[in-house]
Amino acid sequence: MQLPDPGLLFRLAVAVFVIVTPTLMFLGLVRLLERVRDDDLIYRLMTEEELRTVERSHSLAGFVEEVTGTTPGTVRCPDCGAINAAGMGSCVECGARVG
Ligand SMILES: [Zn+2]
Repeated sequence: MQLPDPGLLFRLAVAVFVIVTPTLMFLGLVRLLERVRDDDLIYRLMTEEELRTVERSHSLAGFVEEVTGTTPGTVRCPDCGAINAAGMGSCVECGARVG
């Protein structure tokens, strides 16, 4: 059996090194950042408003609110734009029909 060209083996080794090393370094960096992350510090530095925004953006209700412009279980009055509870016959603000 003939041995492969040493030059080819060397080039293959370099190629594997070049492909694998950045991947491992990136994964190492992500692990490191996850370990040094301090959730308590983040929550201490965020204001109440920012916290509410983050929590809403992580919930399904927040997503629905963002897409439809209303909170779930509510309807917006077509006349005055007031928020009314779903199932109400008329707007609490102006009395127009909603639903
Ligand atoms: Zn109204």
